[in-house]
Amino acid sequence: MPPFVGLIGVGAMGSRMAANLARRGHQLLLYDVVERRYQHLLGERVQGAASLGELAARASVVLTMLPSPSAVRAVYLQELVPALNTAASPRGASLCIDSSTVDPETARSIARAFQTLPRQVGFLDAPVSGGVVGAEQATLTFMVGGPSSALDQATPLLQCMGKSVLHCGEEPGSGAIAKICNNMALGIQMLSICEALSLGRRLGMPPDKLSAVLNVSSARCWSSDTYNPAPGAVKGVPAENDYEDGFVCDLMRKDLGLALLAAGRAQTSVPMAERAAELFNRMSAMGYGAKDFSGAYRYLYAQGHA
Ligand code: NAD
Repeated sequence: MPPFVGLIGVGAMGSRMAANLARRGHQLLLYDVVERRYQHLLGERVQGAASLGELAARASVVLTMLPSPSAVRAVYLQELVPALNTAASPRGASLCIDSSTVDPETARSIARAFQTLPRQVGFLDAPVSGGVVGAEQATLTFMVGGPSSALDQATPLLQCMGKSVLHCGEEPGSGAIAKICNNMALGIQMLSICEALSLGRRLGMPPDKLSAVLNVSSARCWSSDTYNPAPGAVKGVPAENDYEDGFVCDLMRKDLGLALLAAGRAQTSVPMAERAAELFNRMSAMGYGAKDFSGAYRYLYAQGHA
C-alpha cells in the first residue's frame, strides 16, 4: 500500500489540490476543522483523520493549505511538531510542506521548531500562485523555500498539483518572500490599470479601446492583457461575471497586510503598497470584500469626480 499524503485545510484551494493528488494515485488522509468540507472527497483512497496527531503519525508527507499565519502557527507549533516529537510516532511524517500564504517570519519560526525534533523532518514553505483555477487544473506555480534535499523529495508531489516548481532559496521563508512580493506588485499593478481605465472612460475613451492601446504600449501588463478589470476588454475574466469567481479583494488585503508587516520588520518603505492597502480596505468596507480584486475598477469609477 503506498504511503499516505496528509492534507490539512481542505478549503477552496486545498480541496482541489487533494482531488488532483488522488487523481494521480496518491492515498490521502484529510483534516479540516470543518469536517464537512472534505466529505465529498472521501473514498477508497481518501480518508479523513480524526485528529492532527493521527495524521502526523500515519502520513509520510504532510501538506498544509490554511487561511492565515495564525492558523499555520497553531497547526504546526501546537499540534504537528509536538505530535512528531512523541515517541509514539517514530515513523510519522518525514516532510511537511506549507503552501498557505504567510509572512516569512512565520515560515522561519516553524522551520526552527522542526530543528528541535529528535529525528530529521524536512520543512518547506511553498506558497502558490494561480488561484482556484490553477488549483483545479493542476497548473499552480509553487514558490519554494528550504533545503534542496527536502525539495527533491517534494517535487514529484508538487508536480501533481502544479506546472512550475521554483526554488526561491535554501533559507526557510524564501517562498513566502517571493509570494508576498509578487502579490504586493500585483495589487499595485491592478490598481494602476483600474485608475487608467477609469480616467480614460471619464475623459471619453471606452475601456476596451484604451485597453487595446495599453496592450501594445508601455503600460501593458498581466492586469491589462490577461486579467483586465473592465467588462468587455478581455474574455472570460471576473470583470465579465460581475467580479465573481476570482481572487477576492479580502485575500488581496490579507497579502498586502503581510507585505506591510514584512516591510515594517525590514524597515523598508513601501508607500505604493500602503496606498493600495488603504484602497482595498475601503473597498472591503463598501461591500466589495468577496468580489474579485479587479472590482477596484468599478469601485474607482463609481467614486465619480473627486
Ligand atoms: P479557505 O478559507 O477556502 O480554506 C482554508 C481551510 O482551512 C478551511 O476549510 C478551514 O476550515 C481550514 N482551517 C482553518 N483553520 C484550520 C485549522 N486550525 N486546522 C485545520 N483546518 C483549518 O482558503 P483558501 O482560499 O483555500 O486559501 C488557503 C491559502 O491559500 C491561504 O493562505 C490563501 O492566502 C492562499 N491562496 C489562496 C488563493 C485563492 O485564490 N483562494 C490563491 C493563492 C493562495
